[in-house]
Amino acid sequence: MNVKTSFLKNKINEDSPNKNIVPVTTTINSEHKLFIGECSLEDLVSKYDSPLYVLDEITLRNSCKAYKKALEKYYPGPSLPIYASKANSSIFMSNLIASEGFGLDAVSEGELLTALKGGVPNEKIVFHGNNKSDKEIEFAIKNNIKVIVDNDHDLKRLEEISNSFNHDIEIMVRFTPGIECHTHEYIRTGSFDSKFGFGIESLGRLFEVISKTKHIKLTGLHAHIGSQIFELDPHNDLGKIMVDVILQAKDFGHNIKELNVGGGLGIKYTEEDDPPSIDEWIKTVSLSVVKACDKNNLNLPILMCEPGRSIVSTAGVTIYKIGSFKEIPGIRTYLSVDGGMSDNPRPITYQSKYSACLVNNPLNSNSKNKYTVAGKHCESGDVLFKELELGDCKTGDLICVFGTGAYNNSMSSNYNRIPKPAAILVCNGEAEIIQKRESPHDLLKYDVLPDRFIKQS
Ligand SMILES: *Cc1c(COP(=O)(O)O)cnc(C)c1O
Repeated sequence: MNVKTSFLKNKINEDSPNKNIVPVTTTINSEHKLFIGECSLEDLVSKYDSPLYVLDEITLRNSCKAYKKALEKYYPGPSLPIYASKANSSIFMSNLIASEGFGLDAVSEGELLTALKGGVPNEKIVFHGNNKSDKEIEFAIKNNIKVIVDNDHDLKRLEEISNSFNHDIEIMVRFTPGIECHTHEYIRTGSFDSKFGFGIESLGRLFEVISKTKHIKLTGLHAHIGSQIFELDPHNDLGKIMVDVILQAKDFGHNIKELNVGGGLGIKYTEEDDPPSIDEWIKTVSLSVVKACDKNNLNLPILMCEPGRSIVSTAGVTIYKIGSFKEIPGIRTYLSVDGGMSDNPRPITYQSKYSACLVNNPLNSNSKNKYTVAGKHCESGDVLFKELELGDCKTGDLICVFGTGAYNNSMSSNYNRIPKPAAILVCNGEAEIIQKRESPHDLLKYDVLPDRFIKQS
């Protein structure tokens, strides 16, 4: 099966973008050129150069709206969807998700600052992390941002800092529910081997410790069971487990009013991927919480969820320019592009798979050529695709890689002193810059040559 001819002909699901490989506005014009957000990708590269990150506003907003709509439909209590900003953190993304009524989760002062600068209201931000610094905790407390306590050290630091400020704070507690998820299966274990959160068996002791603090009030529970998950059962089980923990906390006098079930809904990177829709995921999460609360005569808590990948991944593509070819007869043909592991570390880190096509003539299938698409970095493993059917192509042609909106820009590096690409927002034929392209000179900004070395030279 030819990857490209199938995926570009699939009917697009407008309501749940995570079920598509391509952004919802993807089209091919009569000259066989690829457009996203009614912008020609070829024109974008002429103007902004390559490699280029492109984000489609309509896909982003459709994803946000799908979460909001499904929460209204299936959850009769109050709710707040929260964007996991590590997926793609920028002032633009913070602003967009705030405009859709989302909250945001952050794990560092940098992500917190980006959220505040982008206009996310502080009461809708939650602060995660298994090793928050004192400076970060102080920043969160001063800005009235809710802290999700991850471990004993975290709690101790919070207690000392809140005492020294004489400042009351509300916290949520993160625990590991003993549900372990893999993409295609999941297992439940007694205690889950993870660096994040309190073990479920240690919660009784923790609840007692919190009751004795002066300024700390426990108001919420948090669990996050994994990422790129295609099953619904783990989240069905999670609701029930979390409601059991609400009851346990009640025994220690804590009134839990917020339940945060984390993120994890998968997206379609390749033809083989078939994730549930946003609607189905929210339905599962909501019904399991509602059912468990009804059974125990509990008022419905504020239901929070934290999608990252399923908000931004499908909205993003990366455009590369093809440079050199190297044919190893009888083995493979390498085709090198002008980016690679610095702008997308997922293939070398997790052997992640993507889909791609040529920007001009995306449906061209007159060639049976398979290419190994290599990046330009000094690592043999810097390979974006092992065997990609691409049709006839030559130096100077452009390749569009789909599904790169999440965990690409946010995980990018300057390995080999490669400057980070620009990022462009597209919508209704308009293209706007949301991240300037770095230059090699920018990369020198933090280098320091001690004086005595300057004198020597
Ligand atoms: C990464 C993460 C998320 C988002 O996960 P996705 O798979 O991108 O939806 C949500 N919550 C926490 C605590 C996370 O670490």
